[in-house]
Amino acid sequence: MSIPPPNFVEREFKEPLLCGPGPCNLGPSVREALTKPVFSPLCEQFFSALDDIRAGIKYVFQTKSNLVLAISGSGHSGMETVITNLVGPKETLLIATRGIWDERAYDIAKRLGIKTIVYRVPYNTTFTLEELERQVELYRPTAMFITHGDSSTGTVQNLEGLGDICHKYGTLLLVDTVVSLGGVPFFMDAWGVDAVYTSTQKALSGPAGISPVAFSARAEQKIKNRKHETSFYFDINLLAQQWNCYGNTRSYHHTMSPPLVWALRECLRQLSIETLEKSWERHAKTSRYFYERLQRLPIEFLVPNPEHRLTTVATLVLPNGYNYNDVVKYLREKHNIIIFPGLGPTAGKSLRIGIMGVNSTVAVADALADALADALQTLVKSSL
Ligand SMILES: *Cc1c(COP(=O)(O)O)cnc(C)c1O
Repeated sequence: MSIPPPNFVEREFKEPLLCGPGPCNLGPSVREALTKPVFSPLCEQFFSALDDIRAGIKYVFQTKSNLVLAISGSGHSGMETVITNLVGPKETLLIATRGIWDERAYDIAKRLGIKTIVYRVPYNTTFTLEELERQVELYRPTAMFITHGDSSTGTVQNLEGLGDICHKYGTLLLVDTVVSLGGVPFFMDAWGVDAVYTSTQKALSGPAGISPVAFSARAEQKIKNRKHETSFYFDINLLAQQWNCYGNTRSYHHTMSPPLVWALRECLRQLSIETLEKSWERHAKTSRYFYERLQRLPIEFLVPNPEHRLTTVATLVLPNGYNYNDVVKYLREKHNIIIFPGLGPTAGKSLRIGIMGVNSTVAVADALADALADALQTLVKSSL
């Protein structure tokens, strides 16, 4: 044989405290769920797990819609699914842009031959509903894409009333809740959201690779009447049959990953036991506590308006003279804590610190604040 087998050396890892904008550490019961047995994808045990997941998704998105299921893939697969199923080539997508995820939506839409309109605000702010209405009224696009919580900038967008505005002009509202769901209030039906997706590895404390999506009745109509073809893997009509969204249509589309199905079911079960209200309250309390601890350090917020700050991901500005990558490296090497530097518009301008899911506790906030204080002291000393 010309290619010999490679030698796989043992690799030992000490699990870090994951406090970046994602992934988050796994919840203990989620870790256990990952080791549950593999069932046939066409047996009762598996079907009942899918039914549980659909009920859980309706709860966490707060929707009565039947077209809810999970896509096999990370958060991006949810993004691609909502865009490709609802907006055809030559139709128009308005992208409200303030961070990297909106840029991704732009990239996906471009590749699908969709006409895109980008409406931008400075990355450390959010949109007013008035300015969004002006854009929707002007272009009357097929759909508008907007990010609820933006993990690249640390902002949270007010969405209450935006659905009504969109519907007035025949526009569908598509929302990314990957880093906000479970950490920040979200109400799909009450806010008139037509398509939404999230993912497991942020505030749900699960493994990446499976992404809940939901479509409103209005979006369902659009999917039924659409003229365009979508990708096979993300075709919501076929997936709705696999997930039995309308009853008696269990059918094979692709093999889902049983460990991920069990893990998602457990994430949703845990959030249902805690309840959304309690989870939102816990996240708000932890982040308030973390901000209080930061007041003793020479650290500023990248987002000036406290109302625009995202509870799950903080973007922090260090005093002049500090290198963001050095601080990230120091926390990893000295404290085994993972935080991230800026990304996209915030690259070289901030740290991104995520306190979410199982990590949304006073103990984690303390560990982070202590580690940051140590980094600021030590790194300054070494540069003197
Ligand atoms: C992390 C993140 C994504 C991308 O999720 P992947 O699982 O990495 O594909 C999308 N949107 C937001 C807001 C995110 O924070």
